[in-house]
Amino acid sequence: MQIINPATEEVIEEIAEDSSETISKKFELVKDGQSEWAAVPLEKRIACIENFYAFLDTEKDKLAETLTMEVGKPLQQSYNELNGARKRLEYFIKNSAKWLAEEWITEEDATREKIVYEPLGVIANISAWNYPYLVGVNVFVPALIGGNAVLYKPSEYATLTGLHIQQLLYRSGIPENVFQVIIGKGPAGQALLELPLNGYFFTGSYRTGKYIAEHTASQLVPVQLELGGKDPLYVMDDVVDVHAVAEAALEGAVYNAGQSCCAVERIYVQENIYDAFVDAFVAQAKKLVTGNPMDKKTDIGPVSRKEQLKFLAEQVEDARQKGGTIMSGGVEPKGTGYYFEPTVVTNANHGMKLMTDESFGPVIGIQKVKDDSEAVQLMKDTPYGLTAAVYSKSFERAEAVMKQMNTGTVYWNCCDRVSAGLPWSGRKNSGLGATLSYHGIRAFVQPKAYHLRG
Ligand code: NDP
Repeated sequence: MQIINPATEEVIEEIAEDSSETISKKFELVKDGQSEWAAVPLEKRIACIENFYAFLDTEKDKLAETLTMEVGKPLQQSYNELNGARKRLEYFIKNSAKWLAEEWITEEDATREKIVYEPLGVIANISAWNYPYLVGVNVFVPALIGGNAVLYKPSEYATLTGLHIQQLLYRSGIPENVFQVIIGKGPAGQALLELPLNGYFFTGSYRTGKYIAEHTASQLVPVQLELGGKDPLYVMDDVVDVHAVAEAALEGAVYNAGQSCCAVERIYVQENIYDAFVDAFVAQAKKLVTGNPMDKKTDIGPVSRKEQLKFLAEQVEDARQKGGTIMSGGVEPKGTGYYFEPTVVTNANHGMKLMTDESFGPVIGIQKVKDDSEAVQLMKDTPYGLTAAVYSKSFERAEAVMKQMNTGTVYWNCCDRVSAGLPWSGRKNSGLGATLSYHGIRAFVQPKAYHLRG
């Protein structure tokens, strides 16, 4: 398998893919290791994650460079991702013992009762490339702390990072028969679905997630899905500083070249501030520097996958044909590297794919709305349910909108953020189950009920 740098289109490395035979061998290895690992005291398992936390800092230069080389995100954003991953580790390190401890329900009655949390067993962590550290640690860290063994399948586009993670976990004290990386493309992920695993934890597209849920249904094991979104952001006419809101919305739309599951994917603005918002938004979008992700001045690197360029160009063209005004970008990419200029489309409407299909790139549509009720109706017009953001001076007004969103997350005067202390979950086509917070610690264990007499 070739690892290609999306900025230069050069082959960085060639790596042997796992076959179904090597994947089965890795499964047998971790199946044997899992029960020994579960018997290791919880504090020792957490201590290994503390070592990993330290390595993410001491090795950060090498890790950030590799990440930027294989996925194309600006170098500073690779450092930000590593820092963000360490914050999540801090949460798990501090809180896991509390949420995994046995719970006495009654100690006084003739029959004493308690709940003990036991690991699931061997789980698959099939992961996406856009934030390999962040979406990875959401799963493999609480899984390992909970006493599970993990078969970790990084995306083919983040393979080198997956191998770094494996190496650092081993150096941190996680045994080789407890964590194994599976190298390969879709078929390697598919091979995991054929094994009798004890849980499937997937981060990626709706299409693949649905396929995985359907394919593993007969195994009757937990399946968790963190999928895509078409996340709306609504700007009410009472915002104090239109420029600051435009700046925040733009960053939410184009950070990591728009390749975030919770990126702002569509914007609605109340009519009396629409022009002021568009002016501020477009002026700032035009200042963004697209280019070499290793360069400190770069805001927008290449997108990670070549196919995405055609997809984005088609969305923009569809919007243009349906009456959208292209205010910046929108030009056919030329030259080496998978670059796409940040593109702002105004006069957008829901007849355009740009406003209804996940873009996953640095393109954004802005639509004018009359009032909160029209905004709510449009925000809800989607099969996805990941996040929704409202900007307003009034919490009461914003809350009335947030309550109507059928999404796992809502934001007031912020957007495109994830907190380790809060559950990360999607509704409808955005997913099933939650990671992070205590929900994301308990997701990797199963309760056993003890009824004790005598
Ligand atoms: P994909 O669904 O294309 O791939 C996800 C993973 O599944 C990859 O490791 C992929 O391997 C693997 N895979 C592909 N086919 C199969 C199969 N038949 N059986 C098992 N595994 C398979 O998603 P992307 O990696 O492109 O990620 C982008 C998507 O992820 C976006 O929709 C984004 O919104 C979503 N996402 C959601 C997040 C959330 O928390 N809700 C967070 C991050 C991203 P390979 O890549 O090697 O083909």
